[in-house]
Amino acid sequence: AAPLVVAVSTALSAKHGLLIRNRPQFEQARNIDAVIFDKTGTLTEGKFGVTDIQSYSDMKEEEVLSYAATIENDSEHPIASGIINEASERNLSLHELTDFNSITGVGIEGTINDKNVKVVSPGYITKQGFNFDDENFNKWSEQGKTVVFLIVDDELKGAIALADQVKESSKETIAALHKRNIKAIMLTGDHQKVANYVAKEIGIDEVYAEVLPDQKAEKVEEIQQRGLVVAMTGDGINDAPALTKADVGIAVGAGTDIAMDSADIVLVDSNPKDILAIFSLSKRTFNKLV
Ligand code: ADP
Ligand code: MG
Repeated sequence: AAPLVVAVSTALSAKHGLLIRNRPQFEQARNIDAVIFDKTGTLTEGKFGVTDIQSYSDMKEEEVLSYAATIENDSEHPIASGIINEASERNLSLHELTDFNSITGVGIEGTINDKNVKVVSPGYITKQGFNFDDENFNKWSEQGKTVVFLIVDDELKGAIALADQVKESSKETIAALHKRNIKAIMLTGDHQKVANYVAKEIGIDEVYAEVLPDQKAEKVEEIQQRGLVVAMTGDGINDAPALTKADVGIAVGAGTDIAMDSADIVLVDSNPKDILAIFSLSKRTFNKLV
């Protein structure tokens, strides 16, 4: 009778927005103790809008934006779309980009007019020892905004703040996990203050921020070593190793192909709430099989 049960549960899963890629891992989901979530694009919409621009030099704010937009033109990161959209709404003309290189988890760099130009994370700025007036930076981060910095030939030129939106169903998903005694953990490459802001808004139990892509899988392993069975949910290239490492890897349907190829289950409608159906369905399927 097993094949019939599988067919029935496949149809049921599809009805709940789930694509099951690996059945044994799906059945394992009934034992999950903790769900680890990537932030951007998983708990949030991953649609950034520019809210503030600051110049740290004689460069005009719009020039900060047009330099950043030029560099971001070839990037697939949601931050890139936010910056490019703002530049195009303001009808800014972009520069000529002669070379481009993405630094995963940190930002991007390229060449404009023979100058090395970077758009990077606060973590990179701190590590390189740049000094800057951080009043606005602190204010924006505490408001949950993601801030990136523009560097031209090793000089810090400006900062751009972007706001994302928490997905409507994130908060109730986490409340429902708590009812099932399942812990909710956030794992993000974004700044600690931004991560804390979002975590507090939706009721996350533990936060790991400023985690570089190659460290995400290590963090998953650390959490498993506490004796917890864990699911990891993510959407990005940077989440793929962590999705593979987790007992159950769950990819967001609107995310990158690499994330989906690394996952056991795909959330077809990109709705975190569909995770809850995984628990009930994997229990039902298991009961029918034994
Ligand atoms: P997340 O875990 O939230 O998906 P990422 O690992 O993709 O985050 O990125 C971590 C940080 O690196 C971002 O918050 C941002 O500061 C920086 N970053 C990554 N890609 C870009 C980019 N294309 N432009 C600017 N900053 C970027
Ligand atoms: Mg992400």
